[in-house]
Amino acid sequence: MPVIPSENEEKYFKELELRMRLEKLDKEQQATVEAEKHRLKELHWLHCPKCGQSLDQEHYGTVEVDVCASCNGLWLDANELDAILEGDKAGSPFRSFLKILGK
Ligand SMILES: [Zn+2]
Repeated sequence: MPVIPSENEEKYFKELELRMRLEKLDKEQQATVEAEKHRLKELHWLHCPKCGQSLDQEHYGTVEVDVCASCNGLWLDANELDAILEGDKAGSPFRSFLKILGK
């Protein structure tokens, strides 16, 4: 004798199926976002944000800064400005200039 599901059972399984579809969509969307982040990082890694040419890495004290050979732009990673300021002599014009930029 076939068992006929109750209305509550049908509702429960429909909601469960819907929840599983949404979780699958979330995972697919998250994978797409991560793939796009990775693609953009590969595309822009060590390229000048101003002109798009390759960046060379040069040392300023103990800090490695990125310098564009094409437009002479100089790029700092997070905390590199603080490291340069800590290593620079107090009262030097370069330090004063960098302090203005760091604000
Ligand atoms: Zn450049």
